[in-house]
Amino acid sequence: MMEDKSFAVQVKCLFCDCALEGDTEKEYVSGDMLKCQECEELNDYDALIDVAAEERKEIVADHVQSEIEKVAKNLFK
Ligand SMILES: [Zn+2]
Repeated sequence: MMEDKSFAVQVKCLFCDCALEGDTEKEYVSGDMLKCQECEELNDYDALIDVAAEERKEIVADHVQSEIEKVAKNLFK
């Protein structure tokens, strides 16, 4: 499976903000809880996905903006 690494968003603990090291072998689904390896709080998977999706949106928006600027620069050279 191809993955676009440039848009990768790290899933962070909602409590201590450290990067969560989820079990990569496990497929997390809605309703799952991910235990933080640092503070041992349980993070709600759905909330994590919401946060990650928001961050991803911002990253993609920034990327699109810079792509548009690049194209515009080429047009008006
Ligand atoms: Zn934590």
